[in-house]
Amino acid sequence: MVLAELGGSITRALQQMNNAIVVDEKVLGECLNEIARALLHADVRFDLVRHLQTNVKNLVNLNHLAAGHNKRKIIQNAIFDELCKLLDPGKPTFTPELGKPSVVMFVGLQGAGKTTTCTKYAHYHRKMGWKTALVCADTFRAGAFDQLKLNATKAKIPFYGSYVDSDPVKVAVEGVKRFKKENCDLIIVDTSGRHKQEAALFEEMRQVSEATKPDLIIFVMDSSIGQSAFDQAEAFKQSVSVGAVIVTKMDGHAKGGGALSAVAATKSPVIFLGTGEHMNEFEPFDVKSFLNRLLG
Ligand code: GDP
Repeated sequence: MVLAELGGSITRALQQMNNAIVVDEKVLGECLNEIARALLHADVRFDLVRHLQTNVKNLVNLNHLAAGHNKRKIIQNAIFDELCKLLDPGKPTFTPELGKPSVVMFVGLQGAGKTTTCTKYAHYHRKMGWKTALVCADTFRAGAFDQLKLNATKAKIPFYGSYVDSDPVKVAVEGVKRFKKENCDLIIVDTSGRHKQEAALFEEMRQVSEATKPDLIIFVMDSSIGQSAFDQAEAFKQSVSVGAVIVTKMDGHAKGGGALSAVAATKSPVIFLGTGEHMNEFEPFDVKSFLNRLLG
């Protein structure tokens, strides 16, 4: 099921409720069960779905609504608010500001789309007149520096990396130092990944983070990883202080529910979506407009 289908299923559940002659506990229960089924099918974690069902029931409390209240509208609003809560951890994240040099570190598993996303993020800000730079602290994967170099050159963004130095901490520190001296507004540190969640990777992330003191750490997640999103995001959050999430490959056949789980696991908001391999296929993420679009 792709995201549009999830939106379709939720909209259908709400329409069924709207068609009911009387909205009572049974009709509300059926509507919430339909929505829960759709969310579970889209890979949202069971406990999050249960939580949403319980919260809506508590919020709406049909027995205590005085006659004349528009129950349907109240239920719809409660469901919308709870879906918003699933995607919005409720605390603001660090937002880089023009003229105030910031260091942003990217973390994620190999293949998640980290390197591509680093360039998109740099390009996005550069288009708005920011002075951005890329640092390749991935000394683990052969070819990582070449890939970043190629992307950065295409986007005309200054970059730093090393073919000979195998110490990611040293490379990261040197790169950050150089671009701070050059008064960059946004210094982006791309880090290495592994195919699996491994202790060595998390230790490396911890060390790079400690040495470069980033203002923001962004966890990059492939939208197609489904139910394993929660554990993966949580594992990163436990080693470094993840402050935001970027979900990639939203153009594919991903179910998208993993994004909700990553938000819950990191207690951090999704800030951008990757929607293709190209540099411009990158969108800022806003919960309300996303849900409005999803629910038609
Ligand atoms: P990394 O190992 O995490 O640095 O991942 P890469 O940046 O090398 O990306 C892995 C693959 O995913 C590459 O082929 C990218 O072109 C592709 N990719 C990254 N982001 C997106 C996206 O939003 N949509 C699509 N379709 N492909 C993407």
